[in-house]
Amino acid sequence: MSEEWKNQIKDQINTLEQLEEIINVTDSEREAIETLNTRWGTTPYFASLMDKDDPDCPIRKQVVPSLHEKNNKYGMTDYLVWKENRDTDEVRPDSIARQYKDRVAFTVLQKCGIYCRHCFRKELVVDDDLKLDFDVDEGIEWIRQHPEVRDVLITGGDPLLLSDEQIGYLIESLRDIPHVEMIRIGSRLPVVLPHRITDDLKKILGGYHDVPIWLNTQCNHPKEITDKTRRAVYDLVTSGVNVGNQAVLLKGINDDAQVMRELHQKLLSARIRPYYIFYCEPAPGIDHFRTPVEKGAELIRDGLRGHTTGLAQPMYVIATNIGKIPLMPDYYTMDKDEEKYVLRNHRGELTELPNIPE
Ligand SMILES: *Cc1c(COP(=O)(O)O)cnc(C)c1O
Ligand code: SF4
Repeated sequence: MSEEWKNQIKDQINTLEQLEEIINVTDSEREAIETLNTRWGTTPYFASLMDKDDPDCPIRKQVVPSLHEKNNKYGMTDYLVWKENRDTDEVRPDSIARQYKDRVAFTVLQKCGIYCRHCFRKELVVDDDLKLDFDVDEGIEWIRQHPEVRDVLITGGDPLLLSDEQIGYLIESLRDIPHVEMIRIGSRLPVVLPHRITDDLKKILGGYHDVPIWLNTQCNHPKEITDKTRRAVYDLVTSGVNVGNQAVLLKGINDDAQVMRELHQKLLSARIRPYYIFYCEPAPGIDHFRTPVEKGAELIRDGLRGHTTGLAQPMYVIATNIGKIPLMPDYYTMDKDEEKYVLRNHRGELTELPNIPE
């Protein structure tokens, strides 16, 4: 039973024939699959959440290739080299991406549970354009030699697709490094393959330790949260792993105040703490998912801040080569002089507060 997750990977849906058994594939979807030279695929579990007849289904759009991927007016070539500062003087293993002094992203493999059509790392995980060498021991050794790194974000691909033994080795090796204070895991599996959270994995990730594990998943639409995901998150949280969410703002999927509110409320009801909403990054071939930059701040203004639980508030950020830049709504402070601040709330009401000189 606990090996069910391996079957889900083995039985991955990644051919037109398999897809046709699950949904009524449209002509343009068929043409995209047949003509685009791209890696795509999903677990049968996540595929089962797709609407059979609606090509605009939010899950289907994240899974099935689209002819729009041919357009690349606004995407940057060699996006990841720019974004992950791979072309700088600092000598680092391929597995280490760095934008900050105290924390790094540690890429440990290229495989994923689903190959998201909007993936900003698609040059690496989807299109295979960027050839990198992910040597886990080399990465661990580099971290060991950099005492300023206190926070290691294990990413991919999807790191939870590694075997239990490999994950155990990785966690133990990082916890063995005196300056590593916390470990983060970026994994979509609690959403696209919740079966991966097995009893054995809970033993590896769970239990009390001075160096905690924080896991951020990616869930973009309320339809993605099922009882299976709720259970997997409960299992993680109760074994001691903190679970957060990093949503991506996607045109036609969640660029709507009501959908965003429902998503963030549902995340909390599944014990997942909203962390970020990312602006959809200018990777090549994903123009059709991108909105104007302001859109995310507008959604927070119109759907989240003040409109629902304070815990349901992610920060809206644009991820760049120099780090994540917040782009939050800016209506709160309406006016300010030596005597007072004029503040505005989500209903448009104003209030005043005395200003204190320094
Ligand atoms: C996103 C990212 C981090 C983590 O950023 P936080 O804002 O701390 O979550 C660290 N390093 C790289 C290279 C990243 O892309
Ligand atoms: S799971 Fe993450 S890395 Fe993998 S395809 Fe989706 S967005 Fe990209």
